[in-house]
Amino acid sequence: MAIERCVVVGWSDLRAIVFECTNAGCGARVVIRPDSELDKTEVVDKCPNGHPWSGGGLSANRTFGMLKQQMSSGGKVFKVLLQFDEPAPAEQKISC
Ligand SMILES: [Zn+2]
Repeated sequence: MAIERCVVVGWSDLRAIVFECTNAGCGARVVIRPDSELDKTEVVDKCPNGHPWSGGGLSANRTFGMLKQQMSSGGKVFKVLLQFDEPAPAEQKISC
């Protein structure tokens, strides 16, 4: 019998939120700590290489704010947690 193990994380467990540009050939990333105030600070509307990150009502700031709200407890009726497979022992030594 195989036992599957998993890891469930909430907002307070996150080390960073990574926004990655999906423009072809770009892939530039912006790494934001969960305790930052990105939802209240200057608008991040483009990737580090200048590709637009806005449109359709989406922005890095709004996305960060929505994630922060839904993944932290704040008297809501539910919150969002993320689940991952537990890393294999050899993978646990890898640090980001
Ligand atoms: Zn880009």
